[in-house]
Order: sequence, then C-alpha cells, then structure tokens
Amino acid sequence: MNKLKMATEKGVPSNSRVLMLLSKLERINGDVIQKNVSITRQVTAKILHLIQTQEKSGKEVMSKGSSGMEVILASLENTQDVPTILNVLYILSELLTAGRGRRAGVFVSKGGTGILFQILTTASKELAPSEELMLQLHSLLAKVGPKDRKFGVKARLSGAMNVTVCLIKQNLQNSKLLLPCLQVLRVYSTNLVNSISLGKNGVVELMFKIVVPYIKKNSSLLKVALDALGALLKSKTNARRAVDGGYVPIVLALYLDWHRNDTRHRHMLIRKGLLVILRNITNIKLGRKAFIEADGMRILYNSSSECLPVRTLDPLINISSLIMRKCFPKNRLPLPTIKSAFHYQLPHVPVVGPAAQLYSQPPGVDDVVDESDDNEETDADTDNDSDNEEEEKEQRSLNDDIETDLNKLHPKTGLGRPFEELRVYERFFLELSEDFQGSNFDSSSTASSSVSLSSSSASTQSTQPIIGPTAQALSSKHVPVLNCQEDCNPTKGISMQPSLSAPTPAPHASLHSLELDNIHLTKDQDHKENLHIPSIDTQTSLPSLPFTGPPAQEQMKEQELSHVLECVSIEEEGAMKIGGEGGGVKQEGSSANATRHIQSPLLLGGITTRRVGGGGGSNWGSDCGSEGADDEGGEGAVLEVPDTALLLPLHDPDLYVEMVKGTHSVPQYAEVAYPDYFGHVAPKSREPHLERVYGVQRSKIFQDIERLIHPNDILDKVVYDLDIPSCPVIVGNGESLKFNSQFESGNLRKAVQVRKYEYDLVLNSDINSNHHHQWFYFEVSGMRVGSTYRFNIINSEKSNSQFNYGMQVLMYSVQEAISGRPCWVRTGTDICYYKNHFARSSIAAGGQKGKSYYTMTFSMSFSHKDDVCYFAYHYPYTYSTLKMHLSKLEALRTRQIYLRQEVLCKSLGGNDCPLLTITAMPDSNSNDHVCQFRNRPLIFLSARVHPGETNASWVMKGTLEFLMGTSPLAASLREAYIFKIIPMLNPDGVINGNHRCSLSGEDLNRQWQNPNPELHPTIHHTKSLLQYLAHIQRAPLVFCDYHGHSRKKNVFMYGCSVKETVWQSDVKATSSDLQEDLGYRALPKILSQIAPAFSMASCSFVVERSKESTARVVVWREIGVQRSYTMESTLCGCDQGKYKGLQIGTRELEEMGAQFCLALLRLKRLTGLNNHQHLLDLESDIIGTQTKVVSSSPTTYVMEEDEPSFLEAVDYSAESNDEDVEPESEQGGEVSENPNHQDHLPDSDANHRN
Ligand SMILES: [Zn+2]
Repeated sequence: MNKLKMATEKGVPSNSRVLMLLSKLERINGDVIQKNVSITRQVTAKILHLIQTQEKSGKEVMSKGSSGMEVILASLENTQDVPTILNVLYILSELLTAGRGRRAGVFVSKGGTGILFQILTTASKELAPSEELMLQLHSLLAKVGPKDRKFGVKARLSGAMNVTVCLIKQNLQNSKLLLPCLQVLRVYSTNLVNSISLGKNGVVELMFKIVVPYIKKNSSLLKVALDALGALLKSKTNARRAVDGGYVPIVLALYLDWHRNDTRHRHMLIRKGLLVILRNITNIKLGRKAFIEADGMRILYNSSSECLPVRTLDPLINISSLIMRKCFPKNRLPLPTIKSAFHYQLPHVPVVGPAAQLYSQPPGVDDVVDESDDNEETDADTDNDSDNEEEEKEQRSLNDDIETDLNKLHPKTGLGRPFEELRVYERFFLELSEDFQGSNFDSSSTASSSVSLSSSSASTQSTQPIIGPTAQALSSKHVPVLNCQEDCNPTKGISMQPSLSAPTPAPHASLHSLELDNIHLTKDQDHKENLHIPSIDTQTSLPSLPFTGPPAQEQMKEQELSHVLECVSIEEEGAMKIGGEGGGVKQEGSSANATRHIQSPLLLGGITTRRVGGGGGSNWGSDCGSEGADDEGGEGAVLEVPDTALLLPLHDPDLYVEMVKGTHSVPQYAEVAYPDYFGHVAPKSREPHLERVYGVQRSKIFQDIERLIHPNDILDKVVYDLDIPSCPVIVGNGESLKFNSQFESGNLRKAVQVRKYEYDLVLNSDINSNHHHQWFYFEVSGMRVGSTYRFNIINSEKSNSQFNYGMQVLMYSVQEAISGRPCWVRTGTDICYYKNHFARSSIAAGGQKGKSYYTMTFSMSFSHKDDVCYFAYHYPYTYSTLKMHLSKLEALRTRQIYLRQEVLCKSLGGNDCPLLTITAMPDSNSNDHVCQFRNRPLIFLSARVHPGETNASWVMKGTLEFLMGTSPLAASLREAYIFKIIPMLNPDGVINGNHRCSLSGEDLNRQWQNPNPELHPTIHHTKSLLQYLAHIQRAPLVFCDYHGHSRKKNVFMYGCSVKETVWQSDVKATSSDLQEDLGYRALPKILSQIAPAFSMASCSFVVERSKESTARVVVWREIGVQRSYTMESTLCGCDQGKYKGLQIGTRELEEMGAQFCLALLRLKRLTGLNNHQHLLDLESDIIGTQTKVVSSSPTTYVMEEDEPSFLEAVDYSAESNDEDVEPESEQGGEVSENPNHQDHLPDSDANHRN
C-alpha cells in the first residue's frame, strides 16, 4: 500500500531507486524475525548513499503524502544492530538538515523523539556504549528538540536526561561529543522542572566549570554552554545557587575579559550569553544585591557606553540596560504620601471600594521595599515548556471575564423602583407633554424669541400629556435642581420644595443660569463674592483691538510683556487670603489690577511699572506675595487677546471668566489658564505621528542610570511642590523653570530639577485616591531659547502608552497666541515611555505586589524667550468651557429649534450637572404636529464620565454644534428625534484635574448598577431619567456614552450582544438564547462607512463581567436599550482611513461628533418610522447576512473599558530584552497615499460650522 502511495503521489517516478529501497526496508521491518542483519545494513547503507549523493532522493522520501519517514523510524525501532542504527541516524541527519524545520516537524509528529530517547537509554546500559552512536543520537536530538513541545518532559520521563548529564560529566575534555550533548542539554533546560532537577544534580556548577576560564578556542562549544546555563538560571533556585556559589563577580569579570579582548566583535554571541546569565541571576533579589556589590552597575554602564558607537553591538547594550534598570534600587516617589495632595471630605466614606481602602491604610504605607520572593518557583509545577505561557494565562483571564451567566445576559424585567419615586423626573421631559397652544407659529414672524421655550412651556399646565401622569408638571421657569445632598433618602423621593434646592432659571435664560449670582452657594460664599475679573471693564473694547505691532517693537517689549502674561487671575485687587479649608492650597499676595487693559503690543507704554505676575514666576501667588507692592495702581498693563470671534463662535474670554467664577474646585482655584481664556483654534497643518528615533529609549535610560553612576552631577532641586500649600512655587535664582498647575483641570504635583535642563515631574492622584496618574495640564515659564529641556513624568501607571507609538504631548504658547495663533499643537521630541525605578508598596497598591511606575519622557526646545507655555496630555476642555459653550449655544437657537437647558442635579462638589433637550419645534400647534413632536424617538447621549478623556468633550461639542446647526440635515435630524444630552457626567473630576474618578475616589462608570444618590449624584439621577423613560415606555432608541481611549487608535464602539458574548465563551446556550436581531450593529456599521476616523474592526459587542456596572451594560440590561454603546475616541490618532498616520485633533474629534449625528439620521432613514420589523430587515441588509458578518468580523475581546488588549503591545517593562525593536510594523513610515490629505472636512454633510 505504501509503495503504491509513494509511487503515485506527487508525481514521484515509480522507478525511483530510493523508493524501491524503502519498500524493501518496509518488507524487512514487517518480518517478525530479522533473518539477516546484513541485508538491513546493506539496504540502509544504500539509501544513505543515495540521499547523500542525490538531492532528489531526500525530496522523494520526504515528499508530502509519502510514508518514507514511518518506514525509516520503524526500521530504527526494529533493530538492535548498531551499524544499522547508525546508518539510519545518518539518513535522518541528512534528511533533517534540509527542509528548514518542516522535516523535523514531520519526524516529531511520527514519534521520532521518543524512539531516539529509547535507543539512548538502552545504549547507555551497555558496558561501553558506542561513542559514535551517542554522538549521532545527540546531534539528531539537538536538531529536533526545539520542534517538539514535549521534548523536555519526554527526556525526563524516559531517563534520557540523566544519560546526557553523565556523558557531559565524563567527557569534559572530549569536545566532539560534548558539543552535541550541551546542545541537547540546552533544550532540556528550557523546561523549568528539568532545570530544577538538573540544578539539584549539580549541573549549574558543572556548567560554570565549562564556561568560566577565559579561553578563546572552541568558541562554539562555549556559546552552547553559556546558552544552556542561561536557560538553567531561569529557575530561581538555580539563580540562587549561582549567587551562593559566588559566581556573580566571576561572570562580571569574565564579561569584562571578553569585552576587552573581543576587539573585532567576533564573539558577540558569547558576550551576549554572559549577559543573559547575569540577566537571569538578577531576576532574584539576592542576585541584584550581589550584582550591586560587585560594582555591576558601573561595569555594565562603562562597557555599554563603549559599545554605543557600534550598531551591531546593540543587543549587548539592550540587555545591559535591562539588567541595570532591574538592579537600580527601587525607590518611593519623592512625595510625603502618594495620596492626592488635595483632600475632599466625603459626606460619608463608602463601606467598600477604593476610597474605603484608602482611608484604612496605615501610615508609612508608601514606603517601598523589594517585595519579590526569591524562593518562589512559580511555574515549577507545569510541564509545558511553552513560551506562550504568558499568552495562555492572559487568554484564560480574558475568557474568565466574559459574562457567562445567561440570566445576566438577558434584559432584566422590572425596574426595581416604584414609579412614585421616578415621577419627579417627569419635569425633565416637558417635551413629552408640550401642546404649544401659546406658541406663535406665524411664519412671517421674525422674532425667534417668540418660540422661546418659556412661552411654549408656559402652557404646559393645561396640557393633557400623551403619556404619563401630569402631576407636578412645572413651568420650566422654576424647575428645581435635584439636590443630592438633601435627597439621599430614597424613600422620601425628591423634594419639590424650592427651598430645598437652587432654582434654575428659565431655559432661554440659561446663559445666566450658571453665573455666580444665580448659583446657590453652600460654602465659601465670602470668598467667591470677592472674586474679581481683571479685564471686566474692557469687555467692549477688547475684541475690537487689532494686533498690529511691528516685530521689532514686539521683541523689545518681550521681557516686559512676559510679566503680563503670567496669568489671568480672577483674584481681587490687593492682598487677600483664600481660606484653604480642606483645599490644601492657600494663596496670598496681591492680585492683578482690576483695570487691566488688554490691547496691542503697540500700546505697552505703562508696562514697566505695572506687573501682573510675580517676577517671572508663573503667577503673582508664586512668590508668596513678596512682590505685591509692585502691583499697585499699574494702569498700563496690557494684554492682547487674540481675536478669535470668527474662528471660535462659541468662545468668549470674558464669558469664560464669568463661568470660572461659578465653578467650585476643591483647591479653590483663583486663576485661569491662558489657553482656556484665549481659546484654541485647531491648526491647519497636519500633525503626523512622531517617528520614533532609533535607540531613543535606551539613551534616556542611560541618562537615568547616570544619576546613580555620577550622583554629584544631580541637582535634585524641588522647584514646584503642591505639598507645600502655602507656597508651591519655590523661588529660585532664575536658573530654573517655573511651574504652575493651580487652575481648573490643572494637574502637576511636583517638579524637581534634576540637571540644568532636565526636570522630573510628579502628577497628582485623583482626589480621595492614591493613583490614576495620567492626565496632566500645567504651565511652564522662565525658559531659555536655544536649550533643549527634558521633562520626565515619573509616576505614570499604565504598562504601555501611545507615547511609544507616535503620540506627542500638547503645548500652548501664549506668545504664539497673542501673535494670532492661539492653538494647542502636538509637540515634543525623543518621546518614549518605559518602566522606571520608582514603585509603590503592595499595601498602597491595594494588596498587589508593589507596582512599578513608568516614565513618560519628552524633550522640548522653546522658540520664544519669556514665553508662558502650557503642556497637556490631551486638548483641555474644562467644566467652565462647557458652561461657556452651552451658554453660547443658546445664541444659535432659531425659531425652528426646541432647546431646553436644565440642571439635572448638583455634583458632590456643588457644581451643576447640565442636561440638554434638543429637538425641532413642531410645524404648528395642530394636533398632528404636536403628536409627531411628542412621539419622536429619544436619543440619549452623555460624555466625560472620565475626566482625563477630554477628547470625549470635543466629540460632544461637535455633536451639539451639529444639532444646533442650520443645515437641512440638522433640521431633519431634529425633526426625527428628541435628544437628551448630559455633556459632562463628572464635573468635579474635570474641574479638579482628576484622570478617572469623581471626588469619591471612585470610577463613576463602575457605579451604574447601584449609584449612591449622595456619592454619585450625577449617575443616580441620569439612571433615574432612563428608568423614568423605561417606565413610561419611552426608552431611548440609542444610548451612547462618549469616552476616550488611551491605548488604541481610531474611533470605535463597544456594544452589547448576547450572541457574540456566548460565542466568545464556552457556555451552552439554547437557540432561543441566541435569538437576537443585529440592530446593535447598524449604527457602528454606518459610522464606519461615513466617519473616516471610525474603525469597525476595533468594535466589540461582548459583555464582560468587569463591565457589568458601566453605563453601556446597565442601560442595555436594565433599561432594555438594545443600541447601548460606549463610543471610544483615540487620544493618539488613526491607523486607517483618511487620517491614517495622523494624530487626532479637535477638528477631527468635532467632526466625529457631527458624523455621529449623520449616522443617526441614516439610521432613521433605514428604520423608517414606527416599523420595527421593517427596520430589522433593512439593518440586516446593510450588515449582510447574520452569521456571515459575525463570523467574518469577530469582535476583539477587551479586558477593561478603556484598555482593551493592545494589539500593538510591546513589552516595555524591565523584563523585555529587545526594547528597541521597532514596535509597530503596521504603522510603517508612510503617512497616506492620498495626496488630498489636507482636506479635513468634507464640505457637504459634516460642515456644520456655518
Ligand atoms: Zn472612559
């Protein structure tokens, strides 16, 4: 049969000699008794000859479908005759040398390794085993070992491993036999159990005996021995053996010998082998100690520095730097505590959760000790010598997170709350009961105010609502704020008494609703009333002033100007104190003059006597009032405000300052950052991803290591420190930069000048938390032109960052702004992100082992002397900015637009949470039109639950502007839906510069299952709105919560699907469980067709356990909204579509927000009105046949809402050893094939900025 097979398949000629011989061999194998040994010898020898002399013979034996390998292996099993065995081993050796591993794979799959081990153990029992046989066996085993996943286990169980070890011991001088034995040992040692067992048998010491003397001859043998030893030392017990045996200084000395003598770099692999040994030994604490004691840092630092000019030596430098980083003594952050510098006293401390944990931590918790356990042989019980172990573990935990409880995958029935409790929310849905009887629909009327909401809603009381009871229907003029503080008793319901809550003005007057006077102040009233806007009396003249200063004069006045630029302050004239009650920040000193004029540089006459800021510092508070006297009475200080009115219709500096006055921050900020004051105009130029400079991370790490090698070069000078609340800015001698972060959304806790042009920066943790460092926003001044500054943010926490993949920081230059370019620009060079030597204790880390921090480093040369610059993680968007934008949106209202702005509730910190209702006015007050108006499906949108995700606010801005636009598309969208929008779910987090949490120290997007009315008021009331809607059968058609994503590119969505969740897990589900229409896919599908930044491939519709309390999952399951989404926008940029290779900007983000609206319009066209079956069919049409679509685009499974498993992930931790391998191949160098790349916005649909 086999012969037939061999003869016919693959076109092998039937007269092939080698195949005829194999057939003969097969017949011999079949004989029970080997009659004639010599015939077998003869046949095998002939086959060998053919294979050695004719390449085609080998091919014929190994051709696909051939059973040649089986025949050969069978003959090996059947014979005891050594010459025959040798013949066959030679044959195999010839065969396996070619074919690049495929043939070895065939050999392994046919059980070849087991047969070789069998022969090896049998032969070892002979009195004098044939050396040639041992040699051949080991040579072959060394070849096939790496192809056999079970090689190590088989070797140990068969006893072959011991045979090899004995041979090594007996043949230390016999390098011919020693070499293949060491090669095989190297493969054995990749299995951890084998390593431990070999260590017990003295093999570690044996290997050191082979490698230690520096001898240049026989380098290949040395290299193999080093590799084997390196593999053995992966076991912690073996590493400890090496330390105890005093081998660390010996290996270091040996490395130096090779480094010095190998001048022509011919023995790179030996030098690398020695470093791998050191790397593995220093995985244990004792090893690191021994390394430091043996002066390892200096030895490796110096040798690596000498290697730097030779590119081929990069692997040596990389491993050296890895070892040095690992051994660099772990340190705590230079802070008194890692708890936030600001404290907010919670009304009550939650019983469980992060805040509870934080409150119960003992003092001294931040001290960092090396907590690694040297005796831990974590993987010792596994028999898999698998390199994929980590991967498998990860996969396992991913699968663990998939929701497998089918009950939790189906909509929950009943709201769990009595309707009486929800009835109070009716007041937020006046549009559902409006009858417009008092409205003027006369089309000839030009007064748009005639359809203002107050008039239309004034008639509400006489309306018979279509749905839902009318009890307690209120005029919108007196919609009370739901005051969470007083509403914590759920049985009491929400009180309607105006005295309990601050009244909200009528919607059309909401421009004033957020102003100081109208806000019910609960504390620090005195302070707020004293706030003063310096530019208040320039309101009218300010925007009209041109900026036409000749450059020469501009330069002359540069120095003086800078003083004016220090900071816009809302402090009152003269010295004043701000009580730091719980805030931790105190400001003293004189303030800006109340009559500050802002005008062109031409008119800077009085500037020299008028200084707004402390001498060159970042603000007048910087110098602790020392220069207060200078500020008196200066009349001529001028500041030019860039005229952005045309470009930024929603921006108004004076209005911004007004808004800031009504914003409550925990540190009671009294300053305004320039970028927020001036506004940001998206730059016209493209901002491609930053190309990573070769070896950038390595050189940064070397600079870090130099701190240890040359400690005297380090300044270690604290120049900014929020932990000194009275005076965070430390006065210097003018040799240091000045920092400031004391303004809304600011985050920088400490700045330490390390070298002349290098600063370590420490971020503040979220309030009531000791971590979540990621968002930053701070001011820098006092820079020199022509010097390159290096900034290191040293307490980043994520294990990887888009800063490794082309993302740059954002910078705003005030000098540029007043020259007419008020914009945030992507900037910074030499950017990278890596694990550093700072760590926190296991207790502080919440019971996990002490966690290392990461450094985000960037370099910067400033182009203007005496500039004031701002740096931010992403385009800032403050709460006051939102209030300003909302106020300006009122002005966009036309008589066709129905817009209502209300205050949903107060946040924990006493800030209003705005709620918007946008739809179209009905065509008339006829019954039909009013019915159509009331029955429009609802779209419910929210954003910014995570404060650090400012991009979500820019997307929201795009959505809001589109909705308020005059285009016919915007009009039809308004006619199609009623939009309910909560643009900022976490005002307090935004205001106080948090990255993730609210003032309760909790992630609000993990509170949706059981939001606490007192601690999570915005979530509690938002969920109540949705519950109310569900109750009156008006659950929204679409719910979408806008987020930002820090580790992925593009824009994408997460949704919820039972089917896709079940398919990802191994849950057995009945077919009825899997009945699910694909409606949830329609919106993302449409978006992927119309929005260039949107990527369908990144979307996921799996429900995870860890997400069960997010908005998306709760709204899906409890409210029953099938299209419930999280929309994630990248913080970095795109790697597909029109914006491929570019970093994302506010223009693209706003465009995304507009395109989301267009997608809703298309969704409406698809669905038609009120015809749900029709809708499903159509959706199926656009998304293709059900199974096909789902299987062809499997959703990527994600671990954490904001950090899905990262496809581009590169291990940038200290355990990685090839760090400078370019991380992203798919990003390539090319930016775009499209030459028209600069067209940012399509002119048609998305152009809503008219
Ligand atoms: Zn988020």
